[in-house]
Formats: sequence, C-alpha cells, structure tokens
Amino acid sequence: MNYTAAELGSSWDENGALHDFSGVMVITSSIGGSSIWGPAVQSAFLPLYLTAMFHKCRNCGKCCRAFDSKLARGVELTAAEAHTLQSFCRVTRRAGKHLLKYPCALQQNHKCTRYIHRPFCCRAFPVVNESGPDLSVSLAVFMACPAGKGTYVTASLFLQELRQLARNLGHIDRELSFADLEQLKTKFDPNSVSPADMEYIKETARQLGLETE
Ligand code: SF4
Ligand code: SF4
Repeated sequence: MNYTAAELGSSWDENGALHDFSGVMVITSSIGGSSIWGPAVQSAFLPLYLTAMFHKCRNCGKCCRAFDSKLARGVELTAAEAHTLQSFCRVTRRAGKHLLKYPCALQQNHKCTRYIHRPFCCRAFPVVNESGPDLSVSLAVFMACPAGKGTYVTASLFLQELRQLARNLGHIDRELSFADLEQLKTKFDPNSVSPADMEYIKETARQLGLETE
C-alpha cells in the first residue's frame, strides 16, 4: 500500500503525541530479507543516502549531545573512524566498540569542528537502523530531531517509488543500481549536498560494490 505525504505526516504527528517525540519512526520494515537492496547496502549506504538527500538539518546541535537514552553512550565509530578521530579528541573503547562520548568534544557553538571527518553515524543521523524484538532490522528516523518529520516523509515517499520502480523493472529480488537511485531522486526536491559529501556517498557505494557511474 502506498501512502501520501499528508498521511505520512499525520502518522508522524500521532506517533509523536503517543511517544512524546522521543522514539523512532520506522520507514522500512524487515529490510534484511529478500529485497531490492542487499543487507550491506541497506545497513550502511541507504541511510546515508536518504539522509544526505532529504534531510534539511536545522543546525540545532542536539544530535551531538545525549538527548535520548538510546544515544547516551555516544557515537559508535568504525576502527578506521576511531583511528582518524583520535588525533583530534579522546576516543573511548568499551565492550570492543569505539565510542565518541557525549557531549561530543568536537562540537563548538552547535557546529561540528571536524565536519569533513565526521563518522558515518553522524552523517546518517537522524536515519538509524532499528532492531526489532525478532532481530529484524528496519530503517527508522529519530523523532526528536527537528528535521526528522521532513526526512521521514520524503524518505518514505522515495522508498515507495523505489519499490514501484523495482516492480516495474521486474527487479524485486535483486539490487537496483546507484544510477537508478540517482534518476529517481530527480523527482524529489533535492537537498543541496556538498561535493565532499557526494564524494563520500559515492566512495561508500563503491566500497559496497555498487556501480556509481
Ligand atoms: S538534531 Fe537534527 S536538525 Fe538538529 S543538528 Fe542534529 S541532524 Fe540537524
Ligand atoms: S563528530 Fe561532529 S557531528 Fe558527530 S557528534 Fe561530534 S560534533 Fe557532532
């Protein structure tokens, strides 16, 4: 079933009233199974892509502090990100994970002082991977982010179109290409993505084995 922007917006508001805007809104469910996206692309690339293209950040700086218990531990880093960032600030290691503790020492006056080095989790925020009780993984948006509603509505509409495109092409069980994504994106209001961020997205896509040209 496809939803309109108005229906998605009202569903966000109803859930926000229920959860006092502290929860997450799921935008896809059970993305680990048979899908147009393989698991690696779903878990790493798609959240980043959706956020960069459709997220109109208000620069409130809330996400660099612990404003939600789910984020209280700090930003989780990959080993490579930890290696880069430890020359700028203290990186904590806990239970085998690298963490940038909150409030993040790299934030000054609501701005990231290492913006071009910010880790994947920061780039993808407010889109996150949400695990269900049955260990299924979904894409979700943090409701407490002031720009979350717009991201949720636009990303949901984009994903509806993406599924429709896959059905039309008969590709429901295989991955679509980066070019398919880019072509579909032109139907939506594009956010301005910096050349550095676009290069990061393309490099991530290349590392995941997607053709980017
Ligand atoms: S909480 Fe949302 S709007 Fe505020 S700075 Fe973070 S990503 Fe941007
Ligand atoms: S690295 Fe930058 S974007 Fe990420 S939490 Fe720290 S200040 Fe915020």
